[in-house]
Order: sequence, then C-alpha cells, then structure tokens
Amino acid sequence: LEPDYRFMIRVRVPGGVASPQQWSALNETAYQHGGGSLRLTTRQAVQFHGVTKEDLPDLMRRLDAVLMDSLAGCGDVNRNVMCHVQPEAGPLHAETSRIAREISTHLTPRTDAWREIWVDGDKVDTKEIEPAPDPLYGRTYLPRKFKIGIALPPINDVDVYSQDIGLIAIERNGGLIGFNVLAGGGLGCSQGDPNTFPRLAESLGFVRTEDVVAVCEAIVTVQRDYGDRENRRHARFKYTVDDRGIEWLAKEVATRSGVTLDHPIPVAFNGNGDRFGWHKAVDERYQRTVFVEGGRLTGETREALARIVRDYSEDVRITPNHNVILSGIRPSDCESVDTRLRDAGLDDESVSVRQRHSMACVAFPTCGLAMAESERYLPTLLASIDEIAVRHGIGDVPMTIRMSGCPNGCSRPYLGEIGFVGRAPGRYNMYLGAAFDGSRLNRIHRENIDEPTILEIIDQLFAAFAQNRAVDEAFGDYLIRSGTISATVHGSETNEL
Ligand code: SF4
Repeated sequence: LEPDYRFMIRVRVPGGVASPQQWSALNETAYQHGGGSLRLTTRQAVQFHGVTKEDLPDLMRRLDAVLMDSLAGCGDVNRNVMCHVQPEAGPLHAETSRIAREISTHLTPRTDAWREIWVDGDKVDTKEIEPAPDPLYGRTYLPRKFKIGIALPPINDVDVYSQDIGLIAIERNGGLIGFNVLAGGGLGCSQGDPNTFPRLAESLGFVRTEDVVAVCEAIVTVQRDYGDRENRRHARFKYTVDDRGIEWLAKEVATRSGVTLDHPIPVAFNGNGDRFGWHKAVDERYQRTVFVEGGRLTGETREALARIVRDYSEDVRITPNHNVILSGIRPSDCESVDTRLRDAGLDDESVSVRQRHSMACVAFPTCGLAMAESERYLPTLLASIDEIAVRHGIGDVPMTIRMSGCPNGCSRPYLGEIGFVGRAPGRYNMYLGAAFDGSRLNRIHRENIDEPTILEIIDQLFAAFAQNRAVDEAFGDYLIRSGTISATVHGSETNEL
C-alpha cells in the first residue's frame, strides 16, 4: 500500500494558442484523467487537478501526441511565456506569438528526462551516464521560477508590469519593430514577512525584434548567477533588481548579450481586461471572446465548447484573464457559433463588466497553500458587489476585481482596483487603488475582514464614487484622487496599512 497521491499537471501553452487538435486532446484528457475539469490559468496555461499517479503516463502521452508537454510548466525555470491576445491585431499577433514561442523554446531546459520518463520509458541517449549540465540553466537551474509576458498597447492584458521580464511590443505602420523591455516585476509575497512584497517591473530600454531573444537570455543568466540561493523567500528576480538596481542590470545585460538597449519608446495603455464579443481580424475572419467563470470548464459546457472549436475555429486562444477566444471563424458561421454558445450556457451577455474584469486563483480545494476560498467564492461576492454598483448607478463602470486564496497572488490581486487576499476561511485582506491599466499597485485598506464588512465598505465607496466621479474616471484613480487611499511608490508599501 502507498498513499493515494494526486497531482496537478500544468500544460505549457506559449502565448495561450492551441490548435483545434490540441484543444480536443485537452478536452478528452480532462474527461479521462482530470476529474472532468479543465482549468485555464491566469498565465494562459491549462491545469488538470486530482490526477492519480497511475494516470500520469497516459496523460503525458496524450499531450505528447499533439505536441504539448508539461515541461517547465512548474519549477525554477522560465515558465509559460504569455502573449497578448488582441483579436484584431492580425499579423502583429502572429508575429508576437511567434516571438513568444521562440523565447519559450529558447528558454526551455534541454533535458531529455521528460520524454524518457513519460513518453517511451527509454533513455534517449543510453551512453550518457551523467547527463551534461543544461547549457543555459547549468546543473542548478534558477533560484526561483521566472516569468515573461508580451503586451501590445493599448491593452495591457498580460499585466506586463508584473512579469520578471515584460516586453511591450512596438509597432510602426502595422509592423513590429521591437520591444520596450521591463525587468523585475513580480507579485507574490509571504504573509507577515515585510521583506517580501509585490513589485512592478522597471524600464530597461528598447530592443529591436531580432535581438529580443538574446536580451531575454542575458537577463535570465543574470538571475541564474546573482539570484539569492540561500533564502527562498528572497529568491525571485524582483529582489535581485531591487537590491542591485536597474542600471546595474542594464550593464550586465549589455555585456552578456552584446546588445545596447535604446531609450524606451513612449507608449500608453488604457486597460488590462479582455475585449468581449465579436472582432473582425485583418483576414476578414472573426474572433469571439468567451467568458469562462473562474477559468473552469466542466461537464457538458466543456464538451460543448470543444465541439464548437472542432466545427468552426481555426485556433483557440486562452486569454491572460482565463477566458477563451475562438479564432478564424468565417463570417457565415458567426450566427451559428452564437447559437451554440448560448445553448452551452456560454453566452456572456448577462455577465457584468466587473465579472468580465475579474480573476480568481484555484485556492480550495486543490491548492495546498490556500487560506481561504477564491474561485468558488468570488462569483457569489461579485453578484453582491454588482447589486451595489447598480443601486448606485455605476453598473456599467468596468473595474478590475481580483481574489487570491493566499498572499502568493496567483490571480495578480495586487493589480486589482479592488483586490482580496485570503487570510482564513471567510476572511480576506482588502486592497484598493491599483490602476485600471495595470501600471500601479494597490495598497491594503482593511485586514482580515468578512463578507458583511467587505460589502459595507464597498457600499460606502461606490456611493462616494458615483457622486464625485470625474468624466470617465476609473475607480482606482478616483480612490487615489479622493484621498481614500494613497498611491504606492514602491511595492513594499502595498502591505502597509
Ligand atoms: Fe494557491 Fe495561493 Fe496561488 Fe491561490 S494564490 S493558487 S491559494 S498559491
């Protein structure tokens, strides 16, 4: 007898783009081995929960058969590379998606172990007793996980300032010319440890498209060589940058890559959610964003979506807000797709603007670090928040509302205009005042509060916002302007009351 271990498998999906064949395999695998559930993540990946040890080999082989894997889905390496999903971006999306895949491939560990263990059971090179160190990661890999995301202004859907490396795509005349590079972002922190804090990435400079992979590699090697390997709570790249400074990093990157970065090109973002409904792409086909509550697809809904993808879609894009975009749909099929989505319960017309801008991590029952509910509770809380918003006449004002079950912040709660971080069952720290475009962190407003207190605070804030709001002013900006909460200058202030 041995313990009944269950596993979470995270599938790497660079840029969140999957073919219909890959989506079909994910759907089938969820049915066979994932307890019927497919969880889209806030980093455009896919998770299966509760997989038994006996089921692992079959699950991995199913992924391998459609050229997917779980390699670097977790671990102290570069994780899934995120990429914007702006529906109408056309060639720009294709180009940035290609760059996301290129960076992902370049930074994936060279180990053969994944295939040896999961796919065929044979060592790829039986002559090698002691495998060679990875050419990039060496024998000891990185001190901690590493995250990269690509945004395309004016939408900051990947929360580019929250990434270890954030790349802002710069276009001229419809073509991609390069990226503004940001470095040192990251949101996770540990409860009660003031030395850990969320941090926004800082500007490193502009790099031309052809040099971006070399610059990313150089930054990763800086973290490999200088990241803290003694204190795991201080091991993320953001602390390396915070301790040593962005100028030091710029010199290291120039030396290692041979690329001198230019001054960043001014850009502006206007929001960080998904754009719902239909959008026409440059190839005259259409794309449809589908709201997925909590990123969770189960049962007949999951099956129905898979059939729609099979029948109509050229590819599927998992968004950074754990929704789905059906892409490459012929104009003549749009009506049928709408009907089929409605029949499947995936019609998002009744979904409020706050729900559309909400995110939750999985938390209970599958995350061992959870202190409170998140994915299973946020819809209930949002329904009450929506009622209050409607009562105050601001029902149509979008707001980013995010909830995490612990301070690790997997749903990026510190970038929500309203953020909730679990403290205990039914109790949350409440954060306020992030920027709607994801360029400013929020700050803690109240600690360890329950639902009645949360709703009472929301009621008061919404009443004042409705009365005093400037034209088109975002809720987070209003909270700062009105003095309800002061803006954070450095991430270490986010947890300061
Ligand atoms: Fe788990 Fe915490 Fe991440 Fe939520 S934020 S998934 S509770 S580690």
